[in-house]
Amino acid sequence: RPENDHVDYQELLDAATAAARRTRGTGHVADYIPALARVDPDAFGMAIATVEGDVYGAGEWEQPFSIQSVSKLLTLTLVLAQGGDDVWQRVGREPSGNPFNSLVQLETEHGIPRNPFINAGAVVVTDRLHSLTGGHAAEAVLDFVRTESGNPDLAIDPEVAASEAEHGHRNAALAHFIASHGNLVNSVETVLTEYYAHCAIAASCRDLAQTGLVLARHGLRVDGSRLLSRSEAKRINAILLTCGTYDAAGEFAYRVGLPGKSGVGGGILAILPGQAAICAWGPALDPAGNSVAAVAALDAFTTLSGLSIF
Ligand code: GLN
Repeated sequence: RPENDHVDYQELLDAATAAARRTRGTGHVADYIPALARVDPDAFGMAIATVEGDVYGAGEWEQPFSIQSVSKLLTLTLVLAQGGDDVWQRVGREPSGNPFNSLVQLETEHGIPRNPFINAGAVVVTDRLHSLTGGHAAEAVLDFVRTESGNPDLAIDPEVAASEAEHGHRNAALAHFIASHGNLVNSVETVLTEYYAHCAIAASCRDLAQTGLVLARHGLRVDGSRLLSRSEAKRINAILLTCGTYDAAGEFAYRVGLPGKSGVGGGILAILPGQAAICAWGPALDPAGNSVAAVAALDAFTTLSGLSIF
């Protein structure tokens, strides 16, 4: 398909939704905290926001869900936007090949997480953002999503955040281990509180697709001002492709062919640079913690349309 050919996004969304529905019955809703376990496993929504300013949706595309690790993309974006690229001395840029909450590489790699999109890496990025914002990491992320989506009602779900903290032994272990290597500036308690708070933002496919447009626009915000340099936007997209879906990033690149970030709330935000941002949501997860329905929908979208980065 030539790049500037007319694309019928609504038709593609309907086909992607049908592909997602065919995955019904596969996967499991995240149940490590009760607030996430309650979600209907069969819910599904998908939204596409284009750089021209059009928004298309299907299914429950305006239903808020817990963004969870999709926030890792937002924290990294804000850190780089605020000149925090010294964060690269404290976190790597290689795929981990391990689960998102793994501790195993931290010991051999001296408290330097493999990449910003696994929990360990996001803890370090949150720490950097907290310092850069004068102590308001989660608030900065929330403000950013509110502004880019044009939805001032977005909020952090306090029940999800509290529940994460209560069941957070593994994240606390990661954070303490990182701190033991001198790789946290703020206290473990502070950084985890901020991390759980930005993970607990509730937003819809529509909100996230509109926010993701910053990366589709090569770094421009909704008001046309520049947030990231073009090269920073390219780099974030590259890390999304190689690390955004954890130890399934290879399979995601193979099936979908777009940079994307998943979260255990079942959302995946994918970027079609220069064209659009696409968010799909379905709560049932595969063993790597990626939404079965969202991966199927994005696979169908790129396969049917030829719209991928390859
Ligand atoms: N808040 C979740 C956690 O820390 C985020 C993980 C995820 O979405 N993959 O475990």
